[in-house]
Amino acid sequence: MDHLCPVCNGLVSLEQACSHCGNRLEDGGRLYDYYGDYSPYQEIDDAKMDNGFPDRVQHQCLHTGWCPQCRVEQTVSVREWTVTMLNAQKDAYK
Ligand SMILES: [Zn+2]
Ligand SMILES: [Zn+2]
Repeated sequence: MDHLCPVCNGLVSLEQACSHCGNRLEDGGRLYDYYGDYSPYQEIDDAKMDNGFPDRVQHQCLHTGWCPQCRVEQTVSVREWTVTMLNAQKDAYK
């Protein structure tokens, strides 16, 4: 695997401001915990096929952000990390 999403892998939390109010969005993946069988990987793969973003090429992982203030979902694209970036991040924690 050449690229991986740091949010899916629990390395960083989702960081994105709401485009309406500037509030920090919550990771919408958590919302689906209430419904049981949510698989983030499955949902994201479906989104990649449906939304027309060229994320396969740009190595972006699409997440759903939730603004509790506006009560809207927003799509957040997370830039996936390369192995080099991942190792640099690990070194930073040493
Ligand atoms: Zn992800
Ligand atoms: Zn908002």
